[in-house]
Amino acid sequence: MGPSVDLVPSSEHFPVEAEVVVIGGGIVGIATALALVKQGVKTVLLEKGTVAAEQSSRNWGWCRRTGRDIRELPLINASMRLWETLNETTGRETGFRRHGIIYATRTEAQRERHLRWIAQAKQYDIASQILSPSQLAERIPGLKANFAGALFTEADGRAEPQKAAPAMAMAAMEAGLNLQQHCAVRSIERSAGRVSHVVTEHGEIKCQSVVVAGGAWSRLLLQGCGVEIPQLKVLSTVLRTRPLEADVSSCVSLGSVALRKRLDGGWTVASSASSVVDITPDSLRFMRPFMPAFKVERASLKLRFGPRFIEEALYWRPGQADKLSIYERIRVLDPAPDRALLRQMIVDLKQVLPAFSGVQVAQSWAGLIDTLPDAIPVISGIDKIAGLFVATGFSGHGFGIAPAAGQLMADLVQGSTPIVDPAPFRFSRFTDGERVHAQHWL
Ligand SMILES: Cc1cc2nc3c(=O)[nH]c(=O)nc-3n(C[C@H](O)[C@H](O)[C@H](O)COP(=O)(O)OP(=O)(O)OC[C@H]3O[C@@H](n4cnc5c(N)ncnc54)[C@H](O)[C@@H]3O)c2cc1C
Repeated sequence: MGPSVDLVPSSEHFPVEAEVVVIGGGIVGIATALALVKQGVKTVLLEKGTVAAEQSSRNWGWCRRTGRDIRELPLINASMRLWETLNETTGRETGFRRHGIIYATRTEAQRERHLRWIAQAKQYDIASQILSPSQLAERIPGLKANFAGALFTEADGRAEPQKAAPAMAMAAMEAGLNLQQHCAVRSIERSAGRVSHVVTEHGEIKCQSVVVAGGAWSRLLLQGCGVEIPQLKVLSTVLRTRPLEADVSSCVSLGSVALRKRLDGGWTVASSASSVVDITPDSLRFMRPFMPAFKVERASLKLRFGPRFIEEALYWRPGQADKLSIYERIRVLDPAPDRALLRQMIVDLKQVLPAFSGVQVAQSWAGLIDTLPDAIPVISGIDKIAGLFVATGFSGHGFGIAPAAGQLMADLVQGSTPIVDPAPFRFSRFTDGERVHAQHWL
């Protein structure tokens, strides 16, 4: 089971129309809805399960510029400015704090990469630095491992995934959002070449625009409209500990293990070196566009062939207006964590940080990360269907960037001046001949 998330009540009345329907109550859909209602746009958000029950509550909570794809830097800068004010503007605790992010460096080649990234990030006013081994030891007292130093960004931060999206959803409702949970969208309907309404399990909602912010489900939702997006899923395992005192204020990645202090006094711990990829029919379908990224990341990816292949081959179909859909069958994607990895994470943690020798695991979970071949999101309109927009494919780093990603999506829907240049995030990059590639800096 996933972590327990702050509860958000649904709106009382089921709507029959809206200017914009947002599909997906993860942090991206909620940030989009929040930005829209603040501009006075009549918005409905539909969530098949409950707010933030999938990736948006299961993540590490890092709000990171460090080592980010250069194309995303203007957006993450805008996002960090929004995070800074979110506690105040939502009137609630999102857990956002600036305590820095540290990536320990293992090899000389990695240090060279970090230096090249710093040089490029400077043009976006990002003041990251290389820490020497002794500076790293000062920042993480008791560290017991031989690192060649670290990449450090003091102005980076963290927030609480189990609180942030719910806080934003409550603020959006206060500003006029109609939020419906346990309300799966079965299909997005069109008339005369443009979006006309969505069909949900509880009835139809007329609208002028639809934003698909369905995380790992976006591919299927778009397939239902005849739009193909090359999206796959990666399973990542996380644990949270009981409260424990340790002098580590920044979010840190120490070789194979990554950790962050939580507001409840515990720690969110994960592996920064290993994830699982279940082979599915989509893995075969999208093997070609993903191959370059796979070749670079293969040491950290465990390929697995098992029941998920059959499950997806048999049941993962786009919804039909008049039939029970897969979105209703699977209210919350709740994959089992990788048990062997959980054991290894604890061994690694105790080894590098003896302060954790008495650590007690309170809970563990896994999440399915939705990813695209170039590991940056699509935040874009779909040219061939007027009124259809997509914000998805955040590829394992959408939590930190979500506040500004939602603002950008709202700007595009409204046709107002975008918060940053949206070109890198356009959907058409997969079809207009651009050489789509991922950047690997960490
Ligand atoms: C283990 C893990 C660690 C991560 N660590 C970080 C990190 O430290 N920092 C960071 O920035 N990012 C991190 N990420 C990535 C981040 O969590 C995601 O990029 C982000 O949460 C994506 O948000 P989303 O709203 O797009 O998707 P989701 O949170 O997955 O939300 C999509 C929602 O859409 C709903 N939905 C789908 N289909 C339908 C439908 N038909 N009808 C109605 N609702 C529907 C789903 O139920 C779901 O709630 C991590 C992810 C994981 C899994």
